[in-house]
Amino acid sequence: MRPLFIAGNWKMNPSTSEAAVALAEAVKAGVGTSAEVRVAVCPPSVFLHHVDAVLSGSPIGLGAQNMHWKPDGAYTGELSGAMLQDIGCTHVILGHSERRHGLHETDAQINAKLHAAIGIGLIPIVCIGETLEERQADQTNDVVAGQMTGSLAGLSPEQMAGVVLAYEPVWAIGTGLTATPSQAQAVHEFIRDWLTSKFGEATAQRVVVQYGGSVKPDNAAELLGAPDIDGALVGGASLKAADFLGIVQAARDVTAKGKP
Ligand code: PEP
Repeated sequence: MRPLFIAGNWKMNPSTSEAAVALAEAVKAGVGTSAEVRVAVCPPSVFLHHVDAVLSGSPIGLGAQNMHWKPDGAYTGELSGAMLQDIGCTHVILGHSERRHGLHETDAQINAKLHAAIGIGLIPIVCIGETLEERQADQTNDVVAGQMTGSLAGLSPEQMAGVVLAYEPVWAIGTGLTATPSQAQAVHEFIRDWLTSKFGEATAQRVVVQYGGSVKPDNAAELLGAPDIDGALVGGASLKAADFLGIVQAARDVTAKGKP
């Protein structure tokens, strides 16, 4: 069984460094020192430094929510992977749907960022997923395959094995709608098959594929119990320590029980 990985995407929250520190402290206390389930939090960039200081000595990873593909230069408002690493980041979210759809980020840009992240040793969490219209038009697999073809281009099998994918149906993000475990598993299985066809079975079996979209403590166990769901990228519920820790606990329970 692949180790489950729960990551919290705080998006543009909370609004003060004090609140970010308090949230990180509560998550750190709840996670403790056990690393059997991988955990990371991804605060806004301006709080990375504060949260890194809190997380010192804990197994919790620190992720940024975006990065630029260039190492330096005239890119106003952007941050390089090296800067993120310098401030303590171990992970970076790439291609979140709020950036793909709200900011028109393309697969080619995500691919450039992915190569830059891998090049300096950041663990990328690459987001993919269809809109409601695409699902209703029965295009889910085509959309997800297209996003993977573009954003994962040029990776070696070894590089691919270190990438985390997050399947996040856009219609389930922040809406309270969740894909049912069987809907999510069906897409995760498609993703695993696609990875097998492009990178080989051994690599595909190593890739961690998270599910994201209104994951909460009360639906986490069922989702995480599905054979190809290897964790969760959590938005709203990651802003309340008790809810986020409830999801981490669900992952620990699934890990203890094992999957079929
Ligand atoms: C996300 O932003 O990646 C996400 C899954 O959000 P939420 O859990 O709020 O749906």
